[in-house]
Amino acid sequence: MKEKRTTERYTLADLENWSEAARDVYPPIRLGVFGDPVAHSLSPQIQNAALRACGIEAQYARFHIRAHELRSALRFLRDLDFVGVNLTVPHKIAAFAQIDQADESASRVGAVNTIRLRDKKLIGFDTDGEGFVRSIRSEFSVDVRDLRVLIVGAGGGTGHAIAWQCALENCERLVLVNRTYEKAQALAERLRPYFAGPRVLGPVALEATAWDETALRAQLADIDLVVNATPLGMNPSEPTPIPARLLAPHHMVFDCAYGPSKSSLLRSADEAGARGANGLPMLLHQGALSFSIWFGCEAPIEVMRAALR
Ligand code: NAP
Repeated sequence: MKEKRTTERYTLADLENWSEAARDVYPPIRLGVFGDPVAHSLSPQIQNAALRACGIEAQYARFHIRAHELRSALRFLRDLDFVGVNLTVPHKIAAFAQIDQADESASRVGAVNTIRLRDKKLIGFDTDGEGFVRSIRSEFSVDVRDLRVLIVGAGGGTGHAIAWQCALENCERLVLVNRTYEKAQALAERLRPYFAGPRVLGPVALEATAWDETALRAQLADIDLVVNATPLGMNPSEPTPIPARLLAPHHMVFDCAYGPSKSSLLRSADEAGARGANGLPMLLHQGALSFSIWFGCEAPIEVMRAALR
C-alpha cells in the first residue's frame, strides 16, 4: 500500500467506525494519545520518529476524547489491532478504574498514562514519575532524593505520580498543594509511611498545605524544587500558579506543561532569578519509557529528542 502518513485528529466516532476512518492510512495507526485538549500534544512527533527509526510499520495519532467518552473509547480499543495508547489530561485517574490489569507503577499511584493491549485486555502503567526524575536530573543536574520538593496540583494524575516517585526516591521533604485541598491531604496520608523514619530536626518532612499566599510563602522558605502539575499557565494569558514575589533565586522551578511560549510560572521564575525548565524533557523521558513498554526494547531516545527540536 502507498504510504499515507496522518496528522489528523481522530474522535470517539472514528474509533467506533475504525476500519472506515483509518482505511487509507499507511503504515496503520496502532498507537495514539487520548486527551482533551490533545491538539497541543507533541507525543505523535516523538513516537512517530521512534517508530520510523526502529523500522516498525505503525503510526501514532491524536485522539480527541472527552472525559465522558473515555469508557466507550477504551471499550472500542479492546477490539482493535492497537499496540497501546497514552493518556493525558483529564483521563489518567479515571482510566485507572477502567483497565483490566495494572502494573505496580500504576497501582501505587492510582493513575495510568500508558496502556498496552494484550489479548484484548488493557494493561495500565504509569511512566510519569520516572520520566519526572530523569528530567530533573537532566535539567538541573541533581537527584530528587537530595531535594525538598513542593508540588502544586498534587490532586491530579501527574501530581500523584510525581509525589509517589518523590516518596520512593526518599526526597528530603515533600509539600503537597492542590486547589481541592482534601485530595492533597488524602495523598499525604498514603505517603506518610515513606516519611516515618528518624530525621534531623527541621520542618515537617511531609505536609499538605493550603493554596494561599501566606501558607505558600512559609513553605517555600524550606523548598528547593517547585513543580507545577496543573494545566494552569499553558495559555499565556492565565495567571501564574505561584507569583514571582514568592520565588527566590535558589529555587528550581519545573513546569510539567510545555507549549510554544513560556508558561506564566516560568516567567515568574525568570523574574525572581530562579532556574526554570518546562515539561519537554519529561515528555521525552515518559514517552521513551512508554515505547519500551509497548515494544520490549530500548527507545531510540536521541532520535526522539531530535524530533522535538
Ligand atoms: P489532571 O489529572 O486533570 O489534574 C489536574 C490538576 O490540576 C488537579 O490537581 C487540579 O486540581 C488542578 N487544576 C486544574 N485546573 C486548575 C485551575 N484552574 N486552578 C488550579 N488548579 C487546577 O491533569 P494531569 O493529567 O495530571 O495533567 C496536569 C498537567 O501536567 C497538564 O498541563 C499536562 O499537560 C501536564 N503533563 C505534562 C507531561 C509531560 O510529559 N510534560 C506529563 C504529564 C502531564 P483539583 O484536584 O482541585 O481539580
